[in-house]
Amino acid sequence: MPTRLAPYTRFARARLLRDRPFYAHWAITHRCNLECKTCTTWTRGDISSEMDEDRIDELARMLGRLGVMQLSIGGGEPLVSDKLPHAVKAFQAEGIRVRVLTNGLGMKPSVAERMFKLGLREMSFSLDSLNPKVQEEIDAAPGTFPIRIKNLLALAEMFPKKGLAVMNTIVFPDNLHELPRILELGKSVGFYLSFIPVHVPAKGKNHLFYRYDETLCFDKNREKEIRDAYAFLLDQKKRGAPIVNSSVFLQKARIISFTAARTGAAMRASSTFPSAPTAWSRRAISSKKNWETPIAEYEQLRASKGYLDEVRERTAHCEEGCLRPCWAEPTFLMSHPSSLWEIARIHWKTLGRRPAFEPAAVHAILGTA
Ligand code: SF4
Repeated sequence: MPTRLAPYTRFARARLLRDRPFYAHWAITHRCNLECKTCTTWTRGDISSEMDEDRIDELARMLGRLGVMQLSIGGGEPLVSDKLPHAVKAFQAEGIRVRVLTNGLGMKPSVAERMFKLGLREMSFSLDSLNPKVQEEIDAAPGTFPIRIKNLLALAEMFPKKGLAVMNTIVFPDNLHELPRILELGKSVGFYLSFIPVHVPAKGKNHLFYRYDETLCFDKNREKEIRDAYAFLLDQKKRGAPIVNSSVFLQKARIISFTAARTGAAMRASSTFPSAPTAWSRRAISSKKNWETPIAEYEQLRASKGYLDEVRERTAHCEEGCLRPCWAEPTFLMSHPSSLWEIARIHWKTLGRRPAFEPAAVHAILGTA
């Protein structure tokens, strides 16, 4: 039976030996209850290609054998998959810390309660704007804002005292000025905040995850505004604000937001394991080489000399242009001691009590007092 310390010893081993993934990201489904303006993932939603319970167990056992410390279950929207409860249990049984990344629309109190009963203690909940019009434009759906807020407040009320709740915000032109308010809201609900720069493919280019939309592109003239916004976040983090992004990440995010490098180039984080709902793992190992392999053959591939040589060579490497935190932050943990120190402090804090939920402050921020 894995101990509570198992994830940390796994990370220490991976950091030392640099021969294994310590972090995995698994899209349990590509289906989604939204068709966001930023995203193309939902266009590939196909329930018939998703893993059944047996294959999920197989993946869990393999990640356990590989010594993975942390798994993020994303999508699509993970809550649309009826396999999610089974998956949470299966991965936790292997001693892996599990985080579910949800857009929040389906996170009703009854669903949240079920998840907590299964032992889930980490969750990321998306909220991009406190302006209903802006949020619903990004969601490309009317009426989503009040549902998100209602679920967020219910979640804040019932989230386990010793858990890591993250509010995830995509930074794009229409919400840049809102970041201080969003940070305040996150603090008032007792969540950590994660700020991710919007990724937009070049005009006319298809991308596996992102969509081009003129309104998502930062105008060069806003460079100072972007610098100021990220300087604010970096300063707040330094002063102890609950921002989960590393300082390295925020510095890079500031730069890519106003350079042309917003094409979503594949991240070379070799300490991670990505997997699609179809049970294929696509390893973007270099700009010239992709290894695409069924999960069942992944361990064999990982043991091959060619693969490990490249993994070692690229462990400290992080290509500008892609700051999907799922790949960027694990890379920084391997290459930047400051990132390691910052995340260790957050994990240490999660062993104590979660910051308090302050309903009055939330209503004052939302203007619903
Ligand atoms: S961004 Fe997330 S919530 Fe929106 S369509 Fe894509 S997967 Fe769904």
